[in-house]
Amino acid sequence: MTGVTVGAEPVATTDLLILGGGPAGLTAAIYAARAGVKTLVLERQMTGGQIATSERVENFPGFPDGVGGMELLELFKQQALHFGAEIREIEEAEDFVPGAPHRVVTGSGTYGGHAVIIATGLDPQGLGCDGEDRFRGRGVSYCATCDGAFFRDRTVAVVGGGNSAVEEALFLTRFARKVYLIHRRDKLRADFVLQKRALENPKIEALWTAQVREVRGEDKVEAVLVDFADRQETREIPVDGVFLYVGQRPNTGFVKEVLQMDQSGFIMTTHLLATNLAGVYAAGDCRFNPMKQVVWAAAEGALAAQQAGKYLEEAGVCRLDVEHD
Ligand SMILES: Cc1cc2nc3c(=O)[nH]c(=O)nc-3n(C[C@H](O)[C@H](O)[C@H](O)COP(=O)(O)OP(=O)(O)OC[C@H]3O[C@@H](n4cnc5c(N)ncnc54)[C@H](O)[C@@H]3O)c2cc1C
Repeated sequence: MTGVTVGAEPVATTDLLILGGGPAGLTAAIYAARAGVKTLVLERQMTGGQIATSERVENFPGFPDGVGGMELLELFKQQALHFGAEIREIEEAEDFVPGAPHRVVTGSGTYGGHAVIIATGLDPQGLGCDGEDRFRGRGVSYCATCDGAFFRDRTVAVVGGGNSAVEEALFLTRFARKVYLIHRRDKLRADFVLQKRALENPKIEALWTAQVREVRGEDKVEAVLVDFADRQETREIPVDGVFLYVGQRPNTGFVKEVLQMDQSGFIMTTHLLATNLAGVYAAGDCRFNPMKQVVWAAAEGALAAQQAGKYLEEAGVCRLDVEHD
């Protein structure tokens, strides 16, 4: 892949275009490039994805003492480059035109790919309240599976009322001494079974019609300031951590006209990660999947690369150097 032209026609076309340079996209690049597929990754920012914002990852295999999120993804990137993948950063996919090749339009031009893997992940939605950004990674978290174990015998707050919030509140009771479930309405939106389980759990206390106005502390989270709409009262509640589940936005807007998605915008695929368009696959957090974790995103990246490789070989675009069975 050498250059691009602004407009609909790509100047150069690569075998495989991978959109997104997080764990899913970079693992796909490792597998594809190692198999001899000409691979180009387009990343809207710097490579790394969500995990690059995590100070410590303790559940990715191979690192018994944990590893920095940024450091881990730098290793993914180096491995992809080592096998010959090309990576272009600050290149955001803005539009997708299906065809042969498929075309992806960015701010600087149009890229062609005989096969495409969409691995654009998601952006966790925050509350936007005072202190949220300041304490991100120092008590404010968007992932109980990732950070729950840091709160053994501590008090935490979970904000939200949907399935994710309630599931994660239940999960946190394995570690935390007490879990406040803070919800802005007077009843939860989560499935009834989950609600029942949470509300019957002695470690969980639900705070209704409650909105977090501020996350407070010196160097780390020490309390949340909560407005209670029903009694027009504001209370400071001491907590050691705050888990926010007020929504997730998959980065799939640019393919919403052409790919099948669920109501929330997560891409629907077959179990082999094929989308409704031939030669287009989706992997990782942008896909409707059961686990939003690095190990899972990486596994899906590997599977998507394998499937894209087979597709390219069957289409006569390239011959694979490495058998994927
Ligand atoms: C704070 C935090 C801590 C976490 N801790 C852990 C942990 O300890 N362990 C664990 O297993 N998981 C953890 N996770 C979850 C994990 O980070 C995600 O499950 C994983 O990163 C998903 O990988 P992905 O490649 O599918 O998506 P992402 O990581 O979201 O990567 C997608 C990439 O695509 C790029 N992109 C988006 N749109 C476009 C576009 N239009 N064009 C080009 N590029 C685009 C993004 O910039 C991003 O780099 C954590 C998440 C967060 C937010």
